[in-house]
Amino acid sequence: MTEPQPDPNAVAPSVANLDVIVSLAKRRGFVFPSSEIYGGINAVWDYGPLGVELKNNVKRAWWRAMVQERDDVVGVDAGILMHPQVWVTSGHVGSFSDPLVECASCRRRYRLDELPGTEELTQTDIKDPEIVDRLKLTCPADGGKLSAPRRFNLMFKTYMGPVEDEAAIVYLRPETAQGSYVNFKNVRESTRKKLPFGIAQIGKSFRNEISPGNFVFRMREFEQMEMQYFVRPREGAATAFEEWLPKRMAWYEAYGVTRSRLRFREHAPDELAHYAKKAIDVEYRFPFGWKELEGIHNRGDWDLGNHAKASGENLEYFDPATDEHFIPWVVETAAGADRAAFTFLIDAYREEEVRGEKRVVLGIHPDLAPYKVAVLPLLKKRPEIVELCHRIKDDLKRQTMAVYDDTAAIGKLYRRQDEIGTPWCVTVDVDSLEDGNVTVRDRDAMTQERISAGQVTRYITDKLDAARPRGL
Ligand code: ATP
Repeated sequence: MTEPQPDPNAVAPSVANLDVIVSLAKRRGFVFPSSEIYGGINAVWDYGPLGVELKNNVKRAWWRAMVQERDDVVGVDAGILMHPQVWVTSGHVGSFSDPLVECASCRRRYRLDELPGTEELTQTDIKDPEIVDRLKLTCPADGGKLSAPRRFNLMFKTYMGPVEDEAAIVYLRPETAQGSYVNFKNVRESTRKKLPFGIAQIGKSFRNEISPGNFVFRMREFEQMEMQYFVRPREGAATAFEEWLPKRMAWYEAYGVTRSRLRFREHAPDELAHYAKKAIDVEYRFPFGWKELEGIHNRGDWDLGNHAKASGENLEYFDPATDEHFIPWVVETAAGADRAAFTFLIDAYREEEVRGEKRVVLGIHPDLAPYKVAVLPLLKKRPEIVELCHRIKDDLKRQTMAVYDDTAAIGKLYRRQDEIGTPWCVTVDVDSLEDGNVTVRDRDAMTQERISAGQVTRYITDKLDAARPRGL
């Protein structure tokens, strides 16, 4: 972590006002409030037709970098519901909590460390039962008296089976990591992997956050992209940690996030999660401040060691080269799929002026763009033009996401595609019927190129392949 850190105050967010993104997301079908016709449900969001494409592309890009293009990482997809003992052993039942304070007059509840005036507090301060009085903190809504903080466990509980009693309690997982740990032995034996090797997983996690918000930044139901890298103890973990740190930063950068809006932040010793020996976050400059995008954690042998003890299963690794048996240590990279998609969306947003008109462009990486190509007719009244459009679009659709649109004049159709980040538009005109050529327009440069209609799919797939980051 020797690189120079950007001056936190000098870096402006990509958009000053989050509402610009929230309204674009709703209007164009990226993200909708959940259950909106019933007034919505707090901190749950639904992905619309464009959002689901974006998020799937983010997950694919992560999987490609973390699993597909590596020889030392394999994937799993574990259940959301797990044996309840998992969460006792992992420490989540005992320690996965945030400090909650409540207003005596309006009964609003807050996470203590998110109240105004707590920005500089250490974790030791936050654990101080006198902290509310000491700092004279009051309710931000009505100035009412706040209670002393109490720990609030973030795990959602439900019941398994038809009887709703204590014995039937199960938890909705608050992280995907445990599904990888409990499968460590299965994966090692079935794949014959040797250390160091990793288990990657993408899936839903649930946290009963006290103060969710900032759109999809903090939700109660969200998706994580986590990778557990199993290594030799101590030095193995220290080396892996230093290797993964720049790699994870490079992933966001390669997919287009502005470098000056990214930084590393190391957790202070009193801030570390119950399982962590060391933790460094990749942070992004959101419109609401510098916030975590992803955490890189040295979890030591906390998880495998505790699971071995509690389950009685031997989770040791035998290294034939050194003739040693030991519990591997873990370096984890823990990212959020929603938070990453949100970041790519915000950072790509720009407004510019073109020939006296405002143009909104989502300059998103082509690999992440919901649609790669829009096929547009210059004259929708000419059936031969429309037919050629559909032929080109159908051929493209066998390889990638393409769309046909004829609901406006061409200038407007281009603007609509710019706003949702479609990297290329293919336009069919009267000349196309004569010479078999069509126009390909580039979203960013706004240059136009004539190519043969029969070459469009190859042209686009070549461009996509060339744009795709390598060696992440
Ligand atoms: P925070 O301090 O923001 O609560 P955390 O340190 O508890 O986050 P981790 O447990 O390290 O987060 O989770 C790994 C990643 O999962 C986070 O970096 C984030 O991208 C994502 N994540 C965690 N909680 C949420 C949430 N409530 N909504 C959306 N994404 C989340």
